[in-house]
Amino acid sequence: MSTSPTPANFIRAAIDHDQRSNKQQGRVVTRFPPEPNGYLHIGHAKSICLNFGIARDYGGVCHLRFDDTNPEKESLEYVQSIIDAVRWLGFSWSQDNVEHLYYASDYYDTLYRCAEILIERGYAYVDSQSSEAMRALRGTLTAPGTPSPYRERSAAENLDLFRRMRAGEFDEGAHVLRAKIDMASPNLNLRDPVLYRIRYAHHYRTGDTWCIYPMYDYTHCISDALENITHSLCTLEFEDHRPLYDWILARLAEADVFKPPLPQQIEFARLNLNYVVTSKRKLLQLVHERHVEGWDDPRLPTLAGLRRRGFTPNSLRLFCERIGVAKADSWIDMSVLEQALRDDLEPLAARAIAVLDPLKLIIDNYPADQSELCTAPLHPHQPERGVRSFPFSRELWIEREDFAEQPPKGYFRLFPGNRVRLRYGFVVECTSVEKDAAGNLLAVHCNYFPDSKSGTAGSNNYKVKGNIHWVSAVHAYAAEVRLYDRLFTAEQPDANGRDFLTVLNPNAKRLVHAYLEPGVQSMQPEERVQFERHGYFVVDYADSKPQQPVFNRIVSLKDSWGK
Ligand code: ATP
Ligand code: MG
Repeated sequence: MSTSPTPANFIRAAIDHDQRSNKQQGRVVTRFPPEPNGYLHIGHAKSICLNFGIARDYGGVCHLRFDDTNPEKESLEYVQSIIDAVRWLGFSWSQDNVEHLYYASDYYDTLYRCAEILIERGYAYVDSQSSEAMRALRGTLTAPGTPSPYRERSAAENLDLFRRMRAGEFDEGAHVLRAKIDMASPNLNLRDPVLYRIRYAHHYRTGDTWCIYPMYDYTHCISDALENITHSLCTLEFEDHRPLYDWILARLAEADVFKPPLPQQIEFARLNLNYVVTSKRKLLQLVHERHVEGWDDPRLPTLAGLRRRGFTPNSLRLFCERIGVAKADSWIDMSVLEQALRDDLEPLAARAIAVLDPLKLIIDNYPADQSELCTAPLHPHQPERGVRSFPFSRELWIEREDFAEQPPKGYFRLFPGNRVRLRYGFVVECTSVEKDAAGNLLAVHCNYFPDSKSGTAGSNNYKVKGNIHWVSAVHAYAAEVRLYDRLFTAEQPDANGRDFLTVLNPNAKRLVHAYLEPGVQSMQPEERVQFERHGYFVVDYADSKPQQPVFNRIVSLKDSWGK
């Protein structure tokens, strides 16, 4: 866990205030309430870090609760993926050996009973209008709504109808249960919101037990109260729902279902990250229409995708800490996420050499049957971690861009007649080039200076400006390396109702056949490395085999997002 000081924010200020006034009897219980209708994304990480972070810092607990009241869209696969993602981020929902893992679907009986109580007390009624008629009477922001002709049904009639709804006597859409609040309220959420609807749908946990399902607003506040949540943190779009949250709980408290202190809803701004979409529905579309290769495609901002891409849990927590929590929506630049990864990995990742765009370099005066080891630090700033070694031989791979037949002005790398140092190896001088009939460059020839080897006495007598990396051709590990770019070409892919598919970047994934320092061949899935000059890479967990790692580039060494 991060040990940096906890950033202050308005939510912590509100909790501090409650602690001082003892409003919640000193308790801090939060919850993270995903609907299992897709995989979690980077936006959810913000909510996870906030809820679990607050619970941890106040000595409380954060519940993981599946808000599973839409049977058509939910599944066990999604439940499992969410459990995996929260664990992977480093958070736990257990306290004193109690697992605080909950499902709103476990509350169906209680929710049903609460609805009967509201009906008995005159706070809910069965409406039998069509949904179009209901919408027509709802009014607008400027015009009040009109009461439903069914609004004054007696409690007995409502109770009877509601029980028959549950018993499966009616078709979908024939009736709904509505709260009886205020059709003239300036807040549309209070104009008799629907609490239950009829759905003949199979639920992944409750099967066919139910044919009526509770609505989100109704379920959420009651679930919070049942779990004795103290602070229910949610995103800003629920601000206008808070009066309904409070109304439902207050009515049930009057009926002694709940005792104060009741949970308090506090809203914060959702995370918007540019060049990606953070909506489960849109991510689902990308996956199902096969624009990407699955929920864990490294191009996706899902937590599974970020993990496979190589992001560390620590880098995501660091990111969430840096973006903070505010009350106004804003867009965060992708570079902030990438910088968090660099800052996390810089001190951790061992270094190695990779040639991503290979060009053959032949050292004519080096014997063909000879090779020798060169050494380099595992980490340039941590000599205590020791060294790595790799062979030098007559034929090497160098980076194509490190050679220029006609060097531009100020070019210090290899060109005919010029000398460079082969990093951690010898100084060489370019003598000639080899081309095919069409004029394509096949190889570069050079001579080396036997007394110039890095680390040996006198090697410093060679003063050269260029220092290029290389791997020995016969010894290198030939690997598949994936380089990634932004998934969308537009900063806000779904802005102003644009179809985000029209701005998909077809080149967001590029495959290269690279030559790597031999030592990386034994790296394990999810191990990370910095390939010098190229960035941070991870061993792909899905496509690698023992001794045949496939690498994903997580981020380059420098910010490439600048406009
Ligand atoms: P989506 O629109 O992607 O489906 P959601 O809000 O419907 O997201 P939920 O599963 O209901 O997804 O979200 C669980 C929790 O995560 C909620 O408390 C929600 O407010 C929060 N959350 C979702 N997206 C973001 C985001 N972009 N930034 C911060 N919190 C988020
Ligand atoms: Mg939601």
